[in-house]
Amino acid sequence: MAKKQFKAESKRLLDLMINSIYTHQEIFLREIISNASDAIDKLAYLALTDEKVGLNRSDFAIELKADEAARTLTVSDNGVGMDRDEMENNLGTICKSGSLQFKKDMEKAEDIDIIGQFGVGFYSAFMVAETVTVISKKYGSDEAWKWTSSGADGYTIEPAERDAAGTDVIMTLKADTEDEKYSRFLKSWELQQLVKKYSDYIRYPIKMEMEKSRVKEETKDSDKPEYETYTEVETLNSMVPIWQKNKKDVTEEEYNNFYKEKFYDYEDPVAVIHASVEGAVTYKALLYIPAKAPYDFYTKEFKKGLQLYSSGVMIMEHCEDLLPDCFRFVRGVVDSQDLSLNISREMLQHDRQLKFIANNLEKKIKAELAKLMENDREKYEKFYTAFGAQLKYGALNDYGAKKELLQDLLLYWSSKEDKLVSLKQYAAAMPEEQKYIYFANGEDKVHLAQLPQLEQLKNKGYDVLFMTDEVDGFLPQTLGKYDDKELRNITQDDLGLASEEEKKAAEEQAEKAKSTLDFIKETLGDSVKEVRLSQNLGSHPVCVVPAEGMTFEMEKYFKRLNPEMGMKAERVLELNGEHPVFSKLQIAVAQEPEKAKKMVRILYAQALLMANLPLENASEYTDLVCELL
Ligand code: ADP
Repeated sequence: MAKKQFKAESKRLLDLMINSIYTHQEIFLREIISNASDAIDKLAYLALTDEKVGLNRSDFAIELKADEAARTLTVSDNGVGMDRDEMENNLGTICKSGSLQFKKDMEKAEDIDIIGQFGVGFYSAFMVAETVTVISKKYGSDEAWKWTSSGADGYTIEPAERDAAGTDVIMTLKADTEDEKYSRFLKSWELQQLVKKYSDYIRYPIKMEMEKSRVKEETKDSDKPEYETYTEVETLNSMVPIWQKNKKDVTEEEYNNFYKEKFYDYEDPVAVIHASVEGAVTYKALLYIPAKAPYDFYTKEFKKGLQLYSSGVMIMEHCEDLLPDCFRFVRGVVDSQDLSLNISREMLQHDRQLKFIANNLEKKIKAELAKLMENDREKYEKFYTAFGAQLKYGALNDYGAKKELLQDLLLYWSSKEDKLVSLKQYAAAMPEEQKYIYFANGEDKVHLAQLPQLEQLKNKGYDVLFMTDEVDGFLPQTLGKYDDKELRNITQDDLGLASEEEKKAAEEQAEKAKSTLDFIKETLGDSVKEVRLSQNLGSHPVCVVPAEGMTFEMEKYFKRLNPEMGMKAERVLELNGEHPVFSKLQIAVAQEPEKAKKMVRILYAQALLMANLPLENASEYTDLVCELL
């Protein structure tokens, strides 16, 4: 029979498995059992809604069979099975997103213990087997099929026999070598240990015929009792899922291993929430906060949601309604016996009990994150690097519906200390006379640290929050206030620093400078909306700020979204009336207007550069500077 070739990326992973000298080869069993359990989940779900299946929950089982003579280990299940196409697609290709990520990570980091920490799936069988045969019959079909492969040279598929729906994975183990005794995977005692270690929580019985010995009945009363061996089918796993256990009976390592295996991460989570709630709705929840965003997190591919179980049967893989969008990075499981089993997935969406659970979980997640921020700042910042933007979007969405929930979880760079601070920390450290919370938007903190407006605030000992995410261009308006203190944009809003006398003096100064300011406005024409004096510039001569309304950050955002749209924040040129350059300009305006025009153009260009905005006419600017030189 003609062999079919594996797809390229599958072949790479397969090669890796075949040539693995990995010390934890034993995890192959966990992977194969977990696939069997998934397949049973699918049929068990079907059985709930379709009487034709004719199976009860107690009918489902996974069986292990070791044949020492043939050197085969077989894992069988009576799950949903595969038809020919599915065998082709599922076993000939890696389609699981986790495996793709695994591949990427393999390229980057040789030293991470990936295989051991990662669900590497069906192919891991090739770590211990020279040949893998899969015989499967899909539920509802009357044909069975056999898939066989001895590794990288391809696989065959042919018709086969099997009574009921389900799958047998038959692994012919590699020959023992000096270092590696593959035959240990044929010993029932060894297999029993492995199931206990890796698959104890699997919710279906994992059965195996165990050899035992007992005293022969007829010699029971004699002085020299004789022994005989017999076999008995035993269930190897306790079947208690980790979330059903008592908190005190689960170690941190067990929590973390469960997470990594189930959600295809190879890093430990930063926090685990294990809740057991009794009352209006009774449920158990085991939630994880990952340390790192999955590669597809900020794309449409990412599926948010928690796995939903009802009395041990998985009803939904990604139940979206259980998680608010702002916490979509949370992974986990919810199990509630109160959810009626026959509800269809559509009806589930409107279930009041789900809403109740979701509200509770939202509070718990918030509390856990707040606790982490308080007690383990380093871990929290790691989390925040990955998901801070998500929290900010969460606070922004629906006109700030969740801002109360989220605002205390936000961190921003402090201009004073070069570290991340919360709004609470900022407010607590404010000098008594400081009225507002100051912030500045920009692409990075290095750039922001050079803003001319900063100087004055710095002199007063006021901190400024540097906001560098895209979403920060919009969020402060939504937050509005924190702790009754208004948030003010240092490049756009009135900083509120001037006293009544200073304001008066400023007005008088502006009055005197009016003809110069008018000259500048005329020179720059429509490029700027307004030209005015500013008290906020410290030792800088000029700056450009946005007029009320759209900020420069918003302009950049819209430009990225759609460059054609031409959305622009109106520019205001501000000048420092105290600066020597301004006096020179005043004189030039009166005596040499042509030179004054050039000075204006140069100053405006400089202001744009300082604000990290594009020059309208870069060659004109360089010509002007050269002329001066
Ligand atoms: P994953 O299980 O993470 O999707 P695997 O490589 O372990 O990745 O398995 C690939 C696919 O093969 C599974 O998604 C499933 O569709 C199919 N499969 C594997 N084992 C079985 C089984 N025992 N019964 C039915 N389908 C299976």
